[in-house]
Amino acid sequence: MTAKVIDGKAFAARVRGQVAAHVARLREEQGITPGLAVVLVGEDPASQVYVRNKHASTIEVGMASFEHRLSAETTEAELLALIARLNADPAVHGILVQLPLPKHLNSDLVINSIDPAKDVDGFHISNVGLLGTGQKSMVPCTPLGCLMMLRDHHGSLAGLNAVVVGRSNIVGKPMAQLLLGDSCTVTIAHSRTKDLAAVCRGADILVAAVGRPEMITGDMVKPGATVIDVGINRIERDGKGKLVGDVHYHSAAEVAGAITPVPGGVGPMTIACLLANTLTACCRAKGLPEPEGLTA
Ligand code: NDP
Repeated sequence: MTAKVIDGKAFAARVRGQVAAHVARLREEQGITPGLAVVLVGEDPASQVYVRNKHASTIEVGMASFEHRLSAETTEAELLALIARLNADPAVHGILVQLPLPKHLNSDLVINSIDPAKDVDGFHISNVGLLGTGQKSMVPCTPLGCLMMLRDHHGSLAGLNAVVVGRSNIVGKPMAQLLLGDSCTVTIAHSRTKDLAAVCRGADILVAAVGRPEMITGDMVKPGATVIDVGINRIERDGKGKLVGDVHYHSAAEVAGAITPVPGGVGPMTIACLLANTLTACCRAKGLPEPEGLTA
């Protein structure tokens, strides 16, 4: 079998198009422009690239983008004061603090100081609790993007066996909650899981969020399964830098029914879902109907 490639780049372009159309309507009909504030502390090069991309994408869909670049020496009190100002600012509907923060800043404290209604990353403890109890919440962008692609491919996910490899708060756990919310039978695997290959072979939906290059190989995939590769790993191959996922693409694609590539799979969906979440937050703040198909 050769798997169908799930084109995250094309899917993300579609989502951004839906967001842009909705934003244009909001502006014309209500005079409202959704706004996203991104806070970057320090000079981490990868974070700088992410923040630049987020800014460009936000502008592209017609939203207002507010960038706050702070020095690596910023104190916790200064950062909390900025977040308090953004929480109170009616032009700001979404707030994202780029992680990781410098070590002297307490990430949990900082994230939990964001107004949960503006927490477009979905990391605030209130949103984690709301998601866990099946209530309306802000949903973390990467798992939301995976869910959208899975729903698009399968229609209903009810009754399917899903295995999520990885139990991080950012990807693995919320992904498992979302799949449970769509009535999958969910297993979460991690570094202490016994016979990971056998666990993975039971999956109709296999989500890899491990951070280990090409760890999930074709022999771990059930024939016909849908494989979602969240991993982004930079490796050296043939003397060149290369981006690979947590799934060994070629062997897995021979067995799977559908698979996301790296790059061009989950990655582009993450920013698209950040924009979707900002739009959703804006609509909720204004008491307007939420955009269809862009939330969990
Ligand atoms: P974390 O490092 O926070 O979590 C990794 C998880 O993988 C842990 O739960 C760990 O288990 C598990 N794990 C590690 N080794 C093994 C193993 N040998 N067998 C089984 N499980 C294992 O990573 P993240 O969740 O933050 O990210 C995962 C990947 O997704 C990374 O490659 C990251 O770059 C990528 N990513 C991509 C995004 C995108 O936009 N596409 C966004 C976010 C992340 P344990 O808990 O037991 O240690």
